[in-house]
Amino acid sequence: HLHDHHRWILPEVLEAQARRRGDSTFLTVIGEGSLSYAAAARQARQVASHCVTAGIRPGDRVAVLLPNGLDFVRLWLGLGRLGAVIVPVNTGLTGDFLAHQLRDSGARAVVSAGPAAEAVADVIGGVDGLQMLDLDGWQHAPQYDGHLPRASDTACLMYTSGTTGPSKGVLMPHAHCYLFGLGSIEGLGITEADRYYVSMPLFHANGLFMQLYATLIAGASAVLRARFSATSWLSDIREHRCTVTNLLGAMSQFVIAQPSSSDDTDHGLRVICPVPNPAPHERAWRERFAIPEVVTAYGMTEVNIPLYGRLGTARPGTAGRALERWFEVEVRGPDTDDRLPAGQIGEIMVRPRVPFGFMSGYAGLPEATVAAWRNFWFHTGDSGVMDEDGWITFVDRTKDCIRRRGENISSYEVENAVASLEGVAEVAAYAVPAGAEGTEDEVMLAVVLRDDVSMDAGAVAAHADMVLPRFARPRYIEIIEALPKTPTQKVRKQELRTRAITSSTWDRERH
Ligand code: ATP
Ligand code: MG
Repeated sequence: HLHDHHRWILPEVLEAQARRRGDSTFLTVIGEGSLSYAAAARQARQVASHCVTAGIRPGDRVAVLLPNGLDFVRLWLGLGRLGAVIVPVNTGLTGDFLAHQLRDSGARAVVSAGPAAEAVADVIGGVDGLQMLDLDGWQHAPQYDGHLPRASDTACLMYTSGTTGPSKGVLMPHAHCYLFGLGSIEGLGITEADRYYVSMPLFHANGLFMQLYATLIAGASAVLRARFSATSWLSDIREHRCTVTNLLGAMSQFVIAQPSSSDDTDHGLRVICPVPNPAPHERAWRERFAIPEVVTAYGMTEVNIPLYGRLGTARPGTAGRALERWFEVEVRGPDTDDRLPAGQIGEIMVRPRVPFGFMSGYAGLPEATVAAWRNFWFHTGDSGVMDEDGWITFVDRTKDCIRRRGENISSYEVENAVASLEGVAEVAAYAVPAGAEGTEDEVMLAVVLRDDVSMDAGAVAAHADMVLPRFARPRYIEIIEALPKTPTQKVRKQELRTRAITSSTWDRERH
């Protein structure tokens, strides 16, 4: 294994692959160009020198707001060579959100282009100590020859998706980033013969580490486009003969919602990793797209991707099984944190076995860091249940569980059940207060219909009554145009909840 021969740091992995793979293609950006392994290593050293000239030192943080493309990749590799910290910022952020994240990150410099550059220009005056870094001219810089970073040094400061509240900055050591790639290689069986279609933005750990870094560690080849597009997803994969890809959140839904055609099976995909992966989606991947292998995974920015599962051999609906070489995963009870027996619902907790294979903390949030690591376990905030063989089913985010008549209802299960109704494009289930005391919840649904479908809340209610146990049936149903999402396509339920509580537009009566 290659990973036995270097120290889990980005510049060593890159140099090793440049020696081994030379002029073979590391990366192709659709509409932009490609990069060989040897060129990538050379350019990384030049970008490192260029950054030094601009006043960046090892350990400095550099914010990046760039679309998926060659400059993003050069900067990631160049900052890695220098031992500086890349801060990938969501290119959709503007105004106060952007200013807050730039300030919070403590970045010394920011690199941006296109529409994001205008957003940065609007706020940069209000962020102390932040300078613009211009990448132009790196081609004239010499090859950097300074010290290498260590596996424990911070390589990346990455923000969580912000699904449950404000995004938190996660300090990621080199080894943590590396383990994201290694897990993906093991979970998906990636070899240098593979071609990874990188579907996620590089400002998310799934795109940058599970997909792009896995490609680099395996010596495979990656194909990117500036931004995800459901309409060109399959044609890209076909044209560039890609063999593996990941999808996150609603992206699967967007791809599956494309009109089906006889071409759907005309591609070379060998494996897909959609997270999450409800049963109707899995059927679509297997039957409509004829993808031989569907792999599921579970994880987060903070403690890597501890669970993977090759489906077919696995239980339907599972989130995976621990990659035991690198992680311990248990389901533990509330309050005492005791390990629960198989079949009981509790909080999913993770303990990585690899030094520095997890975050070193939330930037600027010592209390939140300590709160997450109690009793030597990382508390994921997700509830789940483990079966006799160690397969874990994701139940819900603890915060999204709906409490009603003494039962805990998983919003995630309600959503999957209601989504089985033909014509429903997307659905979110969430709690609204049942009464003035606010100790009990009622289930509310926000439903988005397919464009070509018209249906009223009554039809959804009738279906829900059929597929859900009585205690989990929705009290309120709202048909809406679109769900509020994070830029990584996760549903912001808090926003739905607030809107429901403060507005009178939804129908308070059951049909
Ligand atoms: P924030 O922490 O800011 O609220 P986030 O938790 O969505 O945002 P990420 O680190 O991108 O940020 O996502 C991790 C979360 O995604 C997990 O804690 C879990 O809730 C969810 N998740 C991960 N894998 C799965 C899966 N297989 N099935 C369902 N949910 C999953
Ligand atoms: Mg989280």
